[in-house]
Amino acid sequence: MTKFIELGMSKPVAHALKNVGYTEPTEIQAMTIPLIMAGHDIMASAETGSGKTAAFALPIIECLHEPDEKTRALVLVPTRELALQVAEQFERFGSCRRLRTVTVYGGTGYQQQGRALKSGADIIVATPGRLLDFMEQGTVDLRAVEMLVLDEADRLLDMGFMPQVHRIVEKLPRERQTMMFSATIDVRVEAIARRYLIEPDTVRANTRQIEPAAINQQIIHVDEFGKDMLLAKLIKELDTSSVLVFTRTKRKASWVKRKLRDSNVLAEEIHGDITQVQRERVLKAYREGKFSVLVATDVAARGLDIPTISHVINYDLPDSPEDYVHRIGRTGRAGRAGVAMSFVSVEQRHLVRDIERVIGRQLDPDSAARKKLPPRRFSARGRRRIV
Ligand code: AMP
Repeated sequence: MTKFIELGMSKPVAHALKNVGYTEPTEIQAMTIPLIMAGHDIMASAETGSGKTAAFALPIIECLHEPDEKTRALVLVPTRELALQVAEQFERFGSCRRLRTVTVYGGTGYQQQGRALKSGADIIVATPGRLLDFMEQGTVDLRAVEMLVLDEADRLLDMGFMPQVHRIVEKLPRERQTMMFSATIDVRVEAIARRYLIEPDTVRANTRQIEPAAINQQIIHVDEFGKDMLLAKLIKELDTSSVLVFTRTKRKASWVKRKLRDSNVLAEEIHGDITQVQRERVLKAYREGKFSVLVATDVAARGLDIPTISHVINYDLPDSPEDYVHRIGRTGRAGRAGVAMSFVSVEQRHLVRDIERVIGRQLDPDSAARKKLPPRRFSARGRRRIV
């Protein structure tokens, strides 16, 4: 088994890794760390949950080595949650080298982030829009950037951030090392890679097989009108302190939270209408176990990294199978076991088939047989299928 030391990690960083319980590198880490340390540009295909953040954060920390007056590493990410998480890893492992990380993201005031930038950052983790604002204000100087990461490049594309990314990258020194990470590598991602990477090494970690194995995925057939009752009952039966419930809309998230509270379940909500300050407060309380159920929409929960989440419940199934994979990846983290339960009404069965196609295995043992049968309805108690 490869050890972090064999990948070129110095003693202080190896010590910090040991302290947080990372005993050995994940596949993506073993593959990318030596390449980044050797100065190569890389195009890596890796999903959230594979350990991809440390795969670039650790070698960047080693390469920067110690603080400088200037910002030498820049990581661009699509969402503020991801920005906070990536920054957390840089802080966790970079503090032994006294490297300063500043996180920059929208949806909150400029003052605090502006002050942090002015007091000096070795590493900046940013969402593109807010970083551009600071660049235009002259608050940030990127002329010394040596290492650039585009994290979740497919998401940056999907969320329409590429024009901003181009404007930022134009201002960076040409002589730099560039690393792209993406869950999927399609023609659009390849086009960006051709534009920014020089003779890159392509790395593909086999995450699809690793990820779902740790997550027990269950399908629960429900009647659309019985979902609220069933959810409260299920949560009360589960012996857990941390459940993440997904709904399709903001309004539904508020509704489900209220219904859970009516049933005496401690619940909170996060979605696009919740302010950044409020959201951070809720997430902090959730991490600390002050309440047990967080009800969220897809965008709000993207990138959430809370290892104690034992159950993800899809109150509504997402429209896209990719969102399903992202959702269930919020549990089963850091090597723990996780359970993902999905409420499926008769009308939503086609979505299960789409998901099965993407994850490459059958979730609902009935789905093949049922195609030939007329639809059945089930009571509010639901019938659970365990896979
Ligand atoms: P990521 O794919 O970067 O979102 O990481 C997924 C989870 O795995 C996070 O909770 C990390 O803290 C954890 N993790 C990353 N690398 C390791 C490792 N080598 N050993 C154990 N846990 C890890």
